Amino acid sequence: MDFSPSQRAAELTEAVWTFIRDEIEPVESELHRRSTEARRAGGGEDLWQVPDEVRELQRKARDQGLWNLFLPAGHEGPYAERYGTRGGAGLTNVDYAPVAEETGWSFLAPYVFNCNAPDSGNAEVLLRYGSQQQKDRWLDPLLDGRIRSAFAMTEPGVASSDATNMQLTAVVEGDEVVLNGRKWWTTGVGHPECEVLIVMGLSDPDAHRYAQHSMVLVPRDTAGVKVERMLDTMGFLDEPFGHGEVSFTDVRVPLENVIAGPGRAFEIAQGRLGPGRVHHAMRMIGLAERALHLACERGLSRTAFGKPLVNLGGNRERIAEARIAIDSTRLLILHAAWKLDTVGPTEAISEVSQIKVAAPNVAQQVIDFAIQIHGGAGLSSDFPLSGAWTVARAVRLADGPDEVHKGLVARIELGKHGAAR
Ligand SMILES: Cc1cc2nc3c(=O)[nH]c(=O)nc-3n(C[C@H](O)[C@H](O)[C@H](O)COP(=O)(O)OP(=O)(O)OC[C@H]3O[C@@H](n4cnc5c(N)ncnc54)[C@H](O)[C@@H]3O)c2cc1C
Repeated sequence: MDFSPSQRAAELTEAVWTFIRDEIEPVESELHRRSTEARRAGGGEDLWQVPDEVRELQRKARDQGLWNLFLPAGHEGPYAERYGTRGGAGLTNVDYAPVAEETGWSFLAPYVFNCNAPDSGNAEVLLRYGSQQQKDRWLDPLLDGRIRSAFAMTEPGVASSDATNMQLTAVVEGDEVVLNGRKWWTTGVGHPECEVLIVMGLSDPDAHRYAQHSMVLVPRDTAGVKVERMLDTMGFLDEPFGHGEVSFTDVRVPLENVIAGPGRAFEIAQGRLGPGRVHHAMRMIGLAERALHLACERGLSRTAFGKPLVNLGGNRERIAEARIAIDSTRLLILHAAWKLDTVGPTEAISEVSQIKVAAPNVAQQVIDFAIQIHGGAGLSSDFPLSGAWTVARAVRLADGPDEVHKGLVARIELGKHGAAR
């Protein structure tokens, strides 16, 4: 196994880190202060606007070639030719992993570098499965950062950890598809520039279990699409992206908006969940690193009972345990990334499921320790820790619940012993 980044990747990781430290961090704390104040004052439309400072950061990042770096290797040929710097840098998963880790340090960085969920995953879907017409209409502006997108699979009415349960209908009628039903936790739909949703719908209930559903591109302004409300995650709205509950009432789009043809939603969902999970997992490592950094700084700089906080109780052990957990999980993720690069998503399915469980759980534990050593301050919005904890906690569901991933890991393990799948 070789997890060492290429020279290009090492340079990009360094450049990303320098940009986060010098450009993003000073702006981020001010934006955090403003949005906390706006929320306390009752929110309003301002919360859902993109601050000018963020647009300026995006422009600078793009000028420096720190743009769309998530785009996988293998696409750099046609993409670099067609899109120039928009085509990413052709990084492998192992190469992109440390870049993703750095972006996890900051809440704003993925957006600034145009590598944020769900747009990056949606762009990958269009890249791999989209028709030329779909790419021209939606992938181009997504890679350009001119529009945003959402991914609508989960439904309020059914247990959505089992994707075969999805009930929203996407019925082919002549040269149109008609959608009826309701989704929720549709991340990104609150963004003022969200122009398209990838919606998973039931097209043919009589087909094979994994061929009943389709993925349909639905422009956000189509008649019958209504954002009923924005949900909060433990009080955080995650603006300007947000998570919406969206109803679809007799929504009609052309048949050519179905990605890869009707009945192929599961195949597409599988393809979407490979590399993107490495990004998520490495961002969790970045977040955990930031929490550990804050914990050490705080623990060294405050004194209680005549000693620095780090020297009280089991705090030194907790710091060591956090370091061990972060470093071993990073290696687990790099191993999954290496398998994705060398043998592909199907052969790496257990490893990818393992990191989906391990990374947010480790981040959550480390952030929890960081909150504790900060005392009351750790729970306030003076520090980014309560927001960080909520993100890590949410990832344990947003990417599918821990239990579902563990179930898959166990199934593969037991399969080695002859157990039926
Ligand atoms: C912040 C956030 C962002 C999200 N963004 C999106 C998005 O952009 N698009 C989208 O479509 N969805 C999104 N989701 C939704 C997320 O994918 C679902 O919440 C998740 O898949 C679980 O579905 P559910 O909520 O219906 O839970 P259910 O399916 O009702 O499951 C509830 C619980 O049952 C247990 N359970 C389920 N299956 C098993 C099993 N096999 N073994 C053991 N226990 C099990 C687990 O404890 C699970 O948490 C987001 C969620 C959050 C919190």
